[in-house]
Amino acid sequence: MFSYWEQKNFLNYDLIVVGSGFVGLSTAIHFKKKHPKAIVAVLERGVLPTGASSKNAGFACFGSLTEILDDFWHMNQEEVLTLVKKRYQGLEQIRKKFGDKALGYQASKGYELLDANQLGALDQLDGVNRMLKKLFKEDVFSEVKKKEKFGFSESVKSVIQNKLEGELDPSKYLICLWKLAGSLGIRIFTGANVEAIDVETGTIKLSGQFNRQEMEFTGSQVAVCTNAFTKQLLPETNLEPGRGLVLVSQKLDFDIPWKGGFHMDKGYVYFRKIDGRLLLGGARNIDFEGENSTEFKANPKIKSHLSHLVQEVIFPGKEIQWEHEWTGIMAFGDKKLPIIQSIGKKGSIAVRLGGMGVAIGWQVGKELSKLISEK
Ligand SMILES: Cc1cc2nc3c(=O)[nH]c(=O)nc-3n(C[C@H](O)[C@H](O)[C@H](O)COP(=O)(O)OP(=O)(O)OC[C@H]3O[C@@H](n4cnc5c(N)ncnc54)[C@H](O)[C@@H]3O)c2cc1C
Repeated sequence: MFSYWEQKNFLNYDLIVVGSGFVGLSTAIHFKKKHPKAIVAVLERGVLPTGASSKNAGFACFGSLTEILDDFWHMNQEEVLTLVKKRYQGLEQIRKKFGDKALGYQASKGYELLDANQLGALDQLDGVNRMLKKLFKEDVFSEVKKKEKFGFSESVKSVIQNKLEGELDPSKYLICLWKLAGSLGIRIFTGANVEAIDVETGTIKLSGQFNRQEMEFTGSQVAVCTNAFTKQLLPETNLEPGRGLVLVSQKLDFDIPWKGGFHMDKGYVYFRKIDGRLLLGGARNIDFEGENSTEFKANPKIKSHLSHLVQEVIFPGKEIQWEHEWTGIMAFGDKKLPIIQSIGKKGSIAVRLGGMGVAIGWQVGKELSKLISEK
């Protein structure tokens, strides 16, 4: 049974956010800053955030050359520019807010490896630079003159540099958000697995029993920030889960001759150096169907593909051992942009973040907070 005190002060809130990834925490923070007297709670099913925010690869990126060219198949020029701008500005905003040191941010530049089949992208490089000049006032992409210095295999025919990208430590970013949320008096409940939400009444039911009683929270407003897992609560949401695999090697006994965030295959594959190890991930495009899953499980086909890339392209002839492997789950749809909208009298959602939530999560939270404030 819940006590009078618990019912009065622990179960009712002005805003309840479901999900404590980048988007959920950012939403709670922006709302609380705007409404300092509001009582705000965040409900997270895991002891740690259990989606993508603590499981990503930490690329502070806004698009490789072939990724941007690929976007033109699905979006018009204005939409492509808007997306690049959102991603770049999102990164600038968190750098300004929390500082590079706290985020573990390194302005180490982004790179993309092109094989013989992708060399056509070079013909588009000037055009893409011209288009991006509207945003950056300078050329973003250039071809690296001495690609040999990276030590990649002969199959790499060109390396393109994006001079404005970088890398960060996603767990440090989450710690920044936790600290700020804590200092603002936002209450974060972990182990709170939401089973059902009534977006008309603001009632939220947790799964399981607490002291032999069902537990319900009530919010004057409820923000759903559960990204890939949203269909379990709101089945009509227009998104599909997309799993991503990340591998980290043992500490290497040789010096890695490069630095920065590297992409291959339209951004589907990515690698970087962390603490003298290789971090390599992605390749969802090898098995889209298999990766349409919310199950945290490594796909052997993808792991084998990534391992081959190490031996054949990244460190030719070298064999390395993996020491860490994990998966995280993103969300995708017909458009690359997230869904930020109101549902019912008391609900709203900000979901469908794919491989760019590090960059846009903070801004998405700001937009959702604005929408809730205006409801
Ligand atoms: C492998 C991988 C690599 C990536 N690499 C990059 C990268 O390099 N750069 C980049 O910009 N982006 C990257 N991303 C994408 C980025 O991590 C995501 O876009 C971002 O983290 C999404 O944040 P979110 O808050 O929307 O979702 P999440 O972080 O998934 O947060 C949702 C939260 O909701 C909680 N939740 C779900 N259901 C419930 C429920 N019923 N009750 C209570 N809580 C619930 C989950 O436990 C989770 O903590 C990567 C993602 C993955 C998976």
